[in-house]
Amino acid sequence: MADFNDYKGVWVFCEQRQGKLMSTDFELVSEARKLADELGCEVTGLLLGDNVDGIAKELGGYGADKVMVCDSPLLKDYTTDAYAKVVCDMVNEYKPEVLLIGATNIGRDLGPRCAARLHTGLTADATHLDIDTAKYVEFLKESSTIDLSKQKFDYEDRNLKMTRPAFGGHLMATIICPRFRPQMSTVRPGVMKKAPFDQAKADACQIVKPAFELAASDIKTEVLSVEKAAEKLVDLIGADVIVSVGRGISKDVNKGIELAEQLAAALGGGVVGASRAVTDAGWMSADHQVGQTGKTVHPKIYVALGISGAIQHTAGMQDSECIIAVNKNESAPIFGVADYGIVGDLFKVVPELIKQVEAAKA
Ligand code: FAD
Repeated sequence: MADFNDYKGVWVFCEQRQGKLMSTDFELVSEARKLADELGCEVTGLLLGDNVDGIAKELGGYGADKVMVCDSPLLKDYTTDAYAKVVCDMVNEYKPEVLLIGATNIGRDLGPRCAARLHTGLTADATHLDIDTAKYVEFLKESSTIDLSKQKFDYEDRNLKMTRPAFGGHLMATIICPRFRPQMSTVRPGVMKKAPFDQAKADACQIVKPAFELAASDIKTEVLSVEKAAEKLVDLIGADVIVSVGRGISKDVNKGIELAEQLAAALGGGVVGASRAVTDAGWMSADHQVGQTGKTVHPKIYVALGISGAIQHTAGMQDSECIIAVNKNESAPIFGVADYGIVGDLFKVVPELIKQVEAAKA
């Protein structure tokens, strides 16, 4: 068992690709700020790369008190060996209480490797984090389908409560790591809300360049080149307007997708998302999928066309600012989370909607 008194501070592994920070970094630093305020400690960003100190201060604008920059040509491209070694060495030296990592492709590779080496636990793909027991119980009561009013919650502690969907999204499992430190979690991109950027805080953020050891012989793989996928993937997480299609387009798939694209464009630069029924059928590629096993989104406007509203779908879009649902079945569950519901055939309703939106803009 670790001596907990040695461990202090909330750390965020800040991922960069080709010298650019990822939006997940800002979400995680913003969330880390809230946790650190509960714990009464600092937020530290851990940034690895080659010549990346110039981008570090931006993390301060979202709540980092300090950024530790580990700069080396050997860290230019991500390799599991190099990154895991440096992250673990830093954790062993400076002992953070909490270490958060974005559940990106890189984070999902790095997190478990580090947790195993550090001999601590890791909650993968968390969607909610809390320190405060009272707040956590409130969250649990809101998100649970079971009546928890008579349940006794009597523990008071500083443990991080890491919540993630389990059993196909039917249960929310809250996981603690009471016997080891640091408490580690990979966190789903797009779930945590980014705080507004504060230039004064960015200016005040301290940049530290700690000493670390890394040799070419520590790395067993060589990155020859980084090839970007030829196909441009849809950016659902950053979109303000998303029009998603479900199995309800099956009567004429191409027409359904075209109508969604037209409505998304009419609403102002929107993108098209999809339910899993659509991506499973191969009507749209997997990067369009919204939901528990797809993307978590919170756009300003989310339009659901011919989507029933299964819990696995709503888990990924229910925090959108305004939800509009079109479904021919008036008892479809999607209407339970929608701000505006239109009962009708999407092939008739959507052309009318586009006309009305265009008319309102004219
Ligand atoms: P359906 O449930 O078949 O609904 C189609 C809807 O279209 C119906 O409500 C119908 O009334 C309506 N409709 C039909 N024709 C029209 C028309 N002409 N005009 C208007 N409305 C019409 N799903 C996701 O979306 N995302 C996920 O990430 C996801 N992850 C999952 C993970 C697990 C472990 C499991 C078990 C399931 C997951 N699912 C996910 C699947 C999910 O349970 C549902 O099966 C899926 O969301 C259903 O998609 P749908 O709403 O498009 O289709």
